[in-house]
Amino acid sequence: MHPKASGAGKENEGPSSNAAYTAEALLADLLANTTELLSFYNRDFRLTHYAARLKGMYGGLVAQGAAIWDIYPSFLDSRCRDEFLRVFQGGSPASINLPRSPAESPRSVFVFGTANGVGIIESRAHGGRSAAEEREHVVLLHQATHDVLTGLQNRRRFGERLQQALAVIGGPKPKAALLQIDLDDFKAVNDTLGHGAGDTLLQLAAGRIRDALQDGESAYRYAGDEFAVIQLGKEQPAEAERLAGSLVDAFKEPFVINGISLFVGSSIGIAFGPEHGTDGEQLMKAADIALYAAKTDGRGCARTFNRSMLLLLEQRENLRRSLRTALERGELYLEYQPLIRPPSSVIGFEALLRWRHPEVGIIPPSVFIPIAEADGLMDEIGRWVLEQACRQALTWPSSLTVAVNLSPAQFLSGSLTDTVAQIVDAVGIRADRLELEITETVLLEKTIDNIDTLNTLNVLGIRISLDDFGTYYSSLSYLKNFPFDTLKIDQYFITDLETDLKSQTIVRSIINLAHGLGISVTAEGVETSAQARWLIKENCDCLQGNFLGRPLGAEATSDFVRRSPPKGGRAMEESNRAL
Ligand code: C2E
Ligand code: MG
Ligand code: MG
Repeated sequence: MHPKASGAGKENEGPSSNAAYTAEALLADLLANTTELLSFYNRDFRLTHYAARLKGMYGGLVAQGAAIWDIYPSFLDSRCRDEFLRVFQGGSPASINLPRSPAESPRSVFVFGTANGVGIIESRAHGGRSAAEEREHVVLLHQATHDVLTGLQNRRRFGERLQQALAVIGGPKPKAALLQIDLDDFKAVNDTLGHGAGDTLLQLAAGRIRDALQDGESAYRYAGDEFAVIQLGKEQPAEAERLAGSLVDAFKEPFVINGISLFVGSSIGIAFGPEHGTDGEQLMKAADIALYAAKTDGRGCARTFNRSMLLLLEQRENLRRSLRTALERGELYLEYQPLIRPPSSVIGFEALLRWRHPEVGIIPPSVFIPIAEADGLMDEIGRWVLEQACRQALTWPSSLTVAVNLSPAQFLSGSLTDTVAQIVDAVGIRADRLELEITETVLLEKTIDNIDTLNTLNVLGIRISLDDFGTYYSSLSYLKNFPFDTLKIDQYFITDLETDLKSQTIVRSIINLAHGLGISVTAEGVETSAQARWLIKENCDCLQGNFLGRPLGAEATSDFVRRSPPKGGRAMEESNRAL
């Protein structure tokens, strides 16, 4: 309680009226005027009353309800803890020397029991320090322990506090919770809008985290876009889950930076001490594994560590190891999915990568490509895919095209245009039969070079399509600045086309927009005849999806081509009848 308020109950009876000079008013006077660093705590270790001077010394740390270890972290230290607990549990008053760094002046506290908990009087050996020097000292201490950009406590303080939090466990509320928070897509913002915008985003994010906190919760920024919150003395796991939920929600509103609205979600990993780790490093590792699970579960969510996550991590490690040799062992292969120009002409195929793992079976690209990318294997694999797809296309009628997906790693490698030109040359395929599919995530990085790369490919006569349009930023500036031949509308908008008027409006607008810019449109993931009919009616140039043809192995693709020559064959006639 603020000293002014503690005596506020009897406003019209000032200290002059002796009879009515209550204990409450007396305490208020004392706390407001004493030069002692005096404070009182309840049985939950929470600050209840304090001298005004204490706030002058410790600033924002001092507030009613603050934990004793926020103000005196040394009580979490085994050297002071036992003596403190002895007094706390009703023992006689004691003077305790606080451990200090060499830069700090010696401090001791006098701790005494009260009816409600404990009282503390701090004394400092000033060593001749003036009040101004003392303030300066506090400011320096603040700078050493806080992050300049966001004002949150820094990595150093985080490490200390985590260790202390784990040391105090065993008191009345036995658990400490660590929440590891990571922004989704921070890198993209930094790369596209610049570091200034990135810094602003981090400041705004820190503000949202701070606003979500209650007593007993403290936030830290310990690296780039990584934040953490430590929770002490709470009912767990309920309170950690509640906080994680409100943090995830806090990031659902867009951030407005330089007038641009950006959606940047947060993913959170939760771990509890001592159950998931008895030292800081262990607990951080557990929270990190939980964070990784949150990221792979679709981001923008929170996950609490459990042992089965270790199993998943181990499986991923195994996959990672066997992926290194998958290419040389011939375990990778391609399937081809037809691209149909309405009503029924096959105009080409998209090559889709598969991994036949000797024990696990067939693994889809969404599982192993991210691993290959992270391990720097995608450049080599991508080169193999490109060559394999071009060779396969040579066996088809020369009017058919082949589309190959490029991963960001390939695109950013710097040698993409050379590689593509070499392969096209070596295989001897006409450049205009090759189409490269890229997603917007590729374009978010290194923009000037990207335009160069795409223009060079364009000059070589290779076609370029923008894949999964509508799922990422869908920035219209890409359509203006990059030379796309085709835009592929993501399945997300196609799935509910029959029932959702909004999807209809969006798809119709994308088609009109693309046509206005001279870009052809392909709809992905067409699964029903109603979807196909609707798209044809709206002049969609090309359809792809299981309704028109599932991905097929190389041999089956050749059969398919033989059975349904470019002007449509039996399979196409079947789809056609269904339309
Ligand atoms: P994508 O390029 O958007 O490929 C389309 C995905 O949709 C394919 O999944 C395809 O099998 C699936 N699909 C097609 N029609 C339907 C349908 O009617 N219903 C449903 N539910 N799905 C349909 P797949 O093969 O699992 O590929 C997933 C993603 O992996 C691809 O998305 C692409 O981004 C990436 N990928 C695949 N092959 C390669 C590759 O060789 N290199 C790179 N870098 N990425 C690849
Ligand atoms: Mg694709
Ligand atoms: Mg796609």
